[in-house]
Amino acid sequence: MSKKYKGKVCVYCGVNTSDTADHIFAREFFLQENRQNLPKVPACKKCNSEKSVLEHYATTVLPFGGRGKRTQDFLKTMVRKRLAKNYKLHVALFVGKQRRWRQAESGVFVPGLTLPFDYSKIEQLYIYIRIYRRSDPPNKCQWNRIV
Ligand SMILES: [Zn+2]
Repeated sequence: MSKKYKGKVCVYCGVNTSDTADHIFAREFFLQENRQNLPKVPACKKCNSEKSVLEHYATTVLPFGGRGKRTQDFLKTMVRKRLAKNYKLHVALFVGKQRRWRQAESGVFVPGLTLPFDYSKIEQLYIYIRIYRRSDPPNKCQWNRIV
């Protein structure tokens, strides 16, 4: 790890000394070709570990609600791999799924699917990434937690 991130104050807890660099927005939120130059901050192992668990949940469940062109790419590649590694979450989603009709943008009702969703995990993740970037010049960017 670069010295740039080691031995600093963890940006998430503001207490512990950083052991690692953490991507503010987990790389797993992006397809492989879009992962360059994601911002990183110094983080302690405890915060990084807790945030990683939340990111795993978010990057596995949120794509099911996607409507974009790349949604199917995410589901077929990245989400499939994540579910294969997390049997407990895979079972919870499978058991909790329900078929429902939903109204498409055209107004026509089409078959849809709902999944159980633990919004508290997304709230916790939001607290971690809710940081503020000062308007300093790009080479002097500083990230501060505002929660
Ligand atoms: Zn920390």
